[in-house]
This record gives sequence, structure tokens and C-alpha cells, in this order.
Amino acid sequence: MEGLLSVIEELYQGKITASNTRVKVYKKSFKEHEQARLIMVKTNGIRYILVVGKGSLFDDLQGENIGKGKACPLSHENRLVLNRYFDYTVPRAFGTKIATMGLGDRLGLASPGHIEAIKGRLVKPILAQQSIRELTLTNRTMNDMLDAAAFAVFQEGYEGGYGADGDHIKQESDIQMALELGISMLTLDCSDYIPTGIGAKSLEEVRSEFEKYPKDVQDYYNERYLHQTFDVNGVAISFDEETLIKYVLEYDEALKYMVHVYNEYISKLDRDFDFEISIDETETITSPMAHFFVANELTSKGVKVISLAPRFCGEFQKGIDYIGDVEQFERELSEHALIAEYFGYKLSIHSGSDKFRVFPIIAKHTKGIVHVKTAGTNWLEAVRVIAKTNPYLYRRLHTFALRNLEEALKYYHITPDLDSIAPLDSVTDENLADYMNNDAARQVLHVTYGIILTAKDDNGEPLFKEEFYKTLDEYEDEYIESLVHHIGNHVDTLGL
Ligand SMILES: [Zn+2]
Repeated sequence: MEGLLSVIEELYQGKITASNTRVKVYKKSFKEHEQARLIMVKTNGIRYILVVGKGSLFDDLQGENIGKGKACPLSHENRLVLNRYFDYTVPRAFGTKIATMGLGDRLGLASPGHIEAIKGRLVKPILAQQSIRELTLTNRTMNDMLDAAAFAVFQEGYEGGYGADGDHIKQESDIQMALELGISMLTLDCSDYIPTGIGAKSLEEVRSEFEKYPKDVQDYYNERYLHQTFDVNGVAISFDEETLIKYVLEYDEALKYMVHVYNEYISKLDRDFDFEISIDETETITSPMAHFFVANELTSKGVKVISLAPRFCGEFQKGIDYIGDVEQFERELSEHALIAEYFGYKLSIHSGSDKFRVFPIIAKHTKGIVHVKTAGTNWLEAVRVIAKTNPYLYRRLHTFALRNLEEALKYYHITPDLDSIAPLDSVTDENLADYMNNDAARQVLHVTYGIILTAKDDNGEPLFKEEFYKTLDEYEDEYIESLVHHIGNHVDTLGL
């Protein structure tokens, strides 16, 4: 708490103190509300909101009395207070008229950099975005994620609006929980309902499976699609028996689940909401035709989606560029984009970090109406900062990640060429950050984040987590700078 007294004294007099060696003052956070004044500060690595004055906001914020004010910790309760008084700290939906970018923040530290990176651009940030898998792997809760985003917005004085995505949620209990906690976007993951291997089956095989469906279901699909051609913004889509049956077998169960979730939860909300359907986390590539089939069924059943994430051809592996045939990607993407436009939602691009080869194609065909989801690339930028500023920590992380890669591969699909990673003892401290320019090293560190952050020593103490956070805290400006640069490159290449 050292040094806070004088900051509080000046705040009381209406002055904003400059940062000094003991206290960092986040000037952009300064706010006045009726008779209260607030500002965020950091001392000894811990952030507080200082509040002076009087009134209900002053009373509602909980903290330690210091001089004429209070130093309030960044607690969940205090976040809820900010939400009540300052609308811009509440996550909101964005609909289909503007691009959005998913900027999941595993550490709870990246949002200030993300805000800086997208300020003034033609894109809104979804600052809070974690899947249940990511939360579990990092021992965080959905509230931790929402708290971190709201405090970052307050710290930066960013009033442009941000979203919070319950990312890749599968279970109804998780949907319910996330909605109650105030998410503004849900990415419904339907992969458990999409069987694989249908595409490889013969017509006889799929026909006999289709014949097991109730007669009225068979009739329904046949009447709507069989030997029909649809003109979708100039793309002709026609269904013969085999393609139709295969789509029914692939998506009928998933469609039922989407409709159920929409009717049971989304349509009942009394607020604007961004509902996204994801059919990307499966081996089944979504052809433009399959995309049309799913979208057409959703529309006819009254399900309003804001975005839909197909599984594109080629590979969208975490943290590295697109792998695959770029020409084929463009052909299919252009049709996916026309289909999305036809049904009036945004195309959603998942695992969208670092896909620089295809960003210009995405920009060209989605014309600024797109959702691009990135998640781990800000973690890699954090690792880059560690490599530059704390080489000893970086070396231990690197060794640990390689040694425990097997474990991480249970959760993530990557195919790194491990031989291309230079042996650690051959690299000088000055060059450690170069590992973050090597695809294989990027991927190894990308997928081992959970193992690194939760690793314990023999006494049950965190092996890396505290030092990792401490280093990033010390070099917070460097971290912001590297995110502004890296995420800025994404936004530039996407033409947003
Ligand atoms: Zn996805």
C-alpha cells in the first residue's frame, strides 16, 4: 500500500498523479461519477482502484480505508460494482454489421494490449473468450475471465464496447452457467453430434442408414432438397441422393441440438446476444454445400445466428500459418462467404491466429463482415517477452514444454517438425526470442500453456506461474507493445 496515500490525497483534490517508482498510475482509467472519483493504480505488482468522494459508488466499492479514500482490490465483487455504474465495462453483443475479433486471454493480462491494437479500427474486440478446456487447463473460472476483461477495459478507459464469448461450449449445464454470468456471445460446439467417416461410405451403406429414420423425416428432407437446385447469391447448389443423405447423416443430430439450445436458452434472453454455431472442431470438412444445408435448416426452424464457423479445407493449426492449397481455400471461402451473406450472418474463422497467407483472401470475400477467432497467439507473445527479458525462465519453460509435449497432445492437434527446433544450448540469451519465429517451437509452446502454468515443484509450489506473471507484470509495457504489433498485423492484413 506504500505510496498510495499521496495519490489518494491528490485524487481528492482533483489531480491525477504521475507514476513514480512505487506506484504506477493508469491515467486513462480516471473516472468521475456524481461525487466520486476513481483511478486504477499498481503498487508492488498489485492493482487497486482508488476511490475518493462520497455517494453510492463510493460506498459500494469495497476496500481498505487510506486517508480520504479507499484502495479497492480487483475482486469479483468490485467488478460487479463497476458493471453497475459504468456500462462500457459490461460485455455487449455486436450483431452482424461490424467485424469482431476473438482475443482470448489465457493469462488475464493480454486485454490492455488487445484494446490498444484494435482501437480506432473497423473491428470490435471479444476480449473475454475461453473454452471450458482452456479454463480447466489453466485453473481459471469463467468469472476470472470476465473480471479480467472488465478491469482491463476500465484500466484503459476504453469505452468502445467489448464482448465476452463462452467459447466452444458443448454441455447445457455450461451454457446455462455462462449465460447467468453475463456472457454476450456463445459459441455452441456441435462436434459431439457430428459423426465422422460418413463421406467415405458407399451410397448403399448410407441409404440403408437413412432408411432407419422415421418416414416423415425422410420425406421432409427429400421434398426439400432431392434433385433441387438453389441459387445462393449466384452460387448454384444442387442435391443428388447421395450428397443429401450424407448431409442428413452428418448434421441431423447436430441440427436438433442447435435448435434445442436456441429455443431453450438463446431466444429467451432479454438482451442482445451473439449466437455462434461451430461445426469446425471435427474431421468432417464443411463443403459450401453442407454449409448451405445447415444454414438453410437453421433458418427454416427460426434459429437466428450471428455467426457460423465451418471447418475449412486445409489445416488451421494453432499458432502457425495456413497449411494447404490456397487456391482451393479461396474458391471454397468465396462460396462460404456468399452463403453467410445470403443468410445474413458473419462467417467465423476459428484458430485464426497467424494465418497471414489467407488473411487477404478472407478480407476480399467477407468484405469486413467477419468474426476471426484468435486465442493462443497472445500467449506466444507473452512467451516472447519472457524470452527477451528473463532468459533463465525461458530456458526452463522451453525444456519443460518439450519434455511434456506428449501430455499436451492429448488436447491439441499439431504436427511440429521437432528437428527444426535449434538445441537450446546452441542459442545465446540474446537470440532466445527467435524461437518464437520458428513454427515448431511456436506450436510446442502454444499447446503446453496449461501444463506450464499449472506445473508444481516437489513441495507443491507453482514451478513457473508466479515468475511468469511477475516478469510480465514488470514488463507490461513491452507486452502491450508486442501485442499492438502482432495483433495489429492481423488487423492490417484482414483489412479491418
Ligand atoms: Zn473452433
